[in-house]
Amino acid sequence: MPSSAIVPTMQLSDRATSIPPSITLAISAKVRELKADGREVIAFGAGEPDFDTPKVIMDAAIRAMQSGETHYMPASGTPEAREAIAEKLRTENGIECTANDISINAGAKMSINLALMALLDHGKGHEVVVPTPAWVSYEPMINLAGGSMVEVPSTPEDNFKCSPEHISAAITPDTRAVLINSPSNPCGTMYSEDEVRALADMFDSHPHVVIISDEIYEQLIYGDDNHLSFGAIPEIADRVVTINGLSKAFAMTGWRIGYACAPGNNGAVAKAMNTLQSQLNTCIASFCYAAIPVALNETADDLQSMRATFAARASLMHELISKWPEVTCPKPTGAFYAFPRVAAHFGKTTPAGRKVDDAVSFAEVLLEETGVAVVPGTAFGGCGPEHIRLSFACSEEQIAEGVPRIGVWLETLSN
Ligand code: PLP
Repeated sequence: MPSSAIVPTMQLSDRATSIPPSITLAISAKVRELKADGREVIAFGAGEPDFDTPKVIMDAAIRAMQSGETHYMPASGTPEAREAIAEKLRTENGIECTANDISINAGAKMSINLALMALLDHGKGHEVVVPTPAWVSYEPMINLAGGSMVEVPSTPEDNFKCSPEHISAAITPDTRAVLINSPSNPCGTMYSEDEVRALADMFDSHPHVVIISDEIYEQLIYGDDNHLSFGAIPEIADRVVTINGLSKAFAMTGWRIGYACAPGNNGAVAKAMNTLQSQLNTCIASFCYAAIPVALNETADDLQSMRATFAARASLMHELISKWPEVTCPKPTGAFYAFPRVAAHFGKTTPAGRKVDDAVSFAEVLLEETGVAVVPGTAFGGCGPEHIRLSFACSEEQIAEGVPRIGVWLETLSN
């Protein structure tokens, strides 16, 4: 080809260029770099259980694979898997539904994506109201589906919970959905049954709004409150899309199994999600369907033991964080995160002369100087930029060693 020939350009779409890279990736890359240099790192970044998937679940998938379940499946999945999910939601969550109201997807993340794609349009000014700080993927997913995110900020003083009045004030005629995540990533707190009821009363007066309830951490709760599903409240049940999955409670993050339940309008949203899925990725990995009934029905003891371990870690982490100077941290009551406010230390300098200006530099300098990795709260929205997130999906030894190390480091910072 002559050198003067036109070089073809690969023009990226606005869609691709508008999606921010995950801020946690920068920290993960740094952790890998330090480990490769032989440094010992205590990482509190992981958003996934450190346990193995219970064996009975793995055996079910292996059996399915060996018996030939390795081909395309219908986009709606197997009747057995859908019925097992519907049965779980009826008996454990009090949600009136049938297998027809269920969509099974590649992780709860894909369930949320498909639900948003089923509910939002591009170019129509559709809004989704989200209490913040909130999971980093919500805003990109809402934008990709054509909508815009309207934040309702919460505070650590209120355990990161928004009042019905605050959420109501953010709802406009353009609001298509409110997306609520309880227990919350990154906040580690959850709405009580009474608080869910009070929110439902408020939603009752906004009949045009769909409630997308992300309950992925539903099984991981440690306080006195019980989890209540919005979908179990008859007055609003027809407008609720319940999101859940096997990733977190069953230590199955890599399997990519999530689901949505939407009984309203004869399962119309679930059906639309299955149609979208049929064009996007057909189905989940075929042998995973057989693992779903087993996970939901035969792992009560495994779940109980993982939950007890997380509960002990939650208390230990909170107790140790409470000893840090000038830091507030609501007690984690759900999920596996603590979300302390560290902004009182912004503007300070370490003895080595490094400046801690914000949550991002806090996390970077902390990692560099102490070998402890945390996630800056910046990308979670709301008051997130004043916070850092620590996951307690790691051993008690790591918590007992790493959390006090941060406290000692904080003591050395000066104005
Ligand atoms: N929702 C929240 C709040 C999460 O934190 C996560 C994962 O981190 C997900 C959904 C997605 O879970 P999955 O791994 O099943 O896609």
